[in-house]
Amino acid sequence: MNKTKRVLVVGSGIGGATAAYALAKAGLETHCIDIQPARSTLGSGICLLHNTMRALSEIGLADPCLDSGLRFEVFKQFDAAGNLLMSNPTPPGIGIRRPELARILETSASAAGAKMERGLTAKSVSDRGDCVEVEFSDGREAAYDLVVAADGAYSKLREQFFGAEHRVCFAGQSAWRFNAPRPPEVDGFCLYRSPDGKRTVGALPTSKETCYLFFLENSAQHLHWPDDQLDVLVRERLAGFSAPVIQDSLALITSPQQVLVRPFDVTLVPAPWHRGRVVLLGDSAHSPTPQMTSGGGMAIEDAVVLAQCLKAESSIPEALVAYTNRRFERVSTVWNASLQLCKYEQEAVPNPQRSAALLLQTYQYLGQPM
Ligand SMILES: Cc1cc2nc3c(=O)[nH]c(=O)nc-3n(C[C@H](O)[C@H](O)[C@H](O)COP(=O)(O)OP(=O)(O)OC[C@H]3O[C@@H](n4cnc5c(N)ncnc54)[C@H](O)[C@@H]3O)c2cc1C
Repeated sequence: MNKTKRVLVVGSGIGGATAAYALAKAGLETHCIDIQPARSTLGSGICLLHNTMRALSEIGLADPCLDSGLRFEVFKQFDAAGNLLMSNPTPPGIGIRRPELARILETSASAAGAKMERGLTAKSVSDRGDCVEVEFSDGREAAYDLVVAADGAYSKLREQFFGAEHRVCFAGQSAWRFNAPRPPEVDGFCLYRSPDGKRTVGALPTSKETCYLFFLENSAQHLHWPDDQLDVLVRERLAGFSAPVIQDSLALITSPQQVLVRPFDVTLVPAPWHRGRVVLLGDSAHSPTPQMTSGGGMAIEDAVVLAQCLKAESSIPEALVAYTNRRFERVSTVWNASLQLCKYEQEAVPNPQRSAALLLQTYQYLGQPM
């Protein structure tokens, strides 16, 4: 197999859009499609840790994220009433609104020369050995040297090329999320714990003016809530948290659409992450629980490393082997730490100190080169 010239990236989420940008910048003819007709303007926030910012900096995208988001260097723990219990320095990261991050990544990919198309999916993908033939949902057909499956945790391409055994499974928690104006005390990653330690509310700045709050709920199975009741249900769940940050933010929720709920569905595909000319990237390869705030960061790092490997290696198989070799151990370490933290939070008697220690230890690990 010769060097890659034409690449199709399926999915323009955090991983796919970063890959489209990095691949186009590396000189590859890059086409990126997403099934959603438009980029969402809704969505909560996301934390980009120090290692993620370093990866974005390597490809020249850190500054626009810093301009839009808010830099922080502290991890704070409070009780449910909002009294500060502990404050630890962390390596610098940023919080940013998800729609802003998506805008930065997608417009940068377009500007770098990637062809970005929305409202489009791959109806069929056939690896012919010397190329991958793709039929699109609008009837067009094209051939590529490589297909990057960046279609998220519920990836159809993973199912087709890696089998059903890597489907996600439920990790026993779901997140409730909503945006709010940022009070001054939310100047870093903040956790508020209930007196029994069993319930946690988090707050993260997303700009000078805004922040987002999240609440983690344990359950044995996926829970199903009526969409038109989410505002009432989130208030019920947070009633025991009297911290002004939490109650003032809840008071501004006037419609159920302001509240997002998502189960933690996880998978970690064993190495290697390619079959022939189809390679997994981001959540399609490794969907973690969000405790390490690193799923998006790992997807960004994947994209940077994949582009480097395709540029450095002389054939596609060599590049794809090098890609998994550089990514698997690092991603697994973070994925395992996230899941461990999620399990700790579901224990009958949680131990916040032990969780904080694992969190900080894994932050340190992430400081190592990717
Ligand atoms: C509650 C919560 C909080 C989180 N907080 C953080 C955080 O603070 N920091 C962090 O780094 N990570 C965080 N994450 C994880 C992060 O959101 C994900 O890891 C990240 O979005 C993965 O990016 P991705 O591009 O791989 O997948 P996605 O973002 O899921 O993107 C997949 C894209 O593929 C498209 N697609 C799907 N199917 C098809 C198809 N058949 N054809 C074409 N397109 C398709 C979708 O429309 C989507 O745009 C959090 C996750 C959750 C649930």
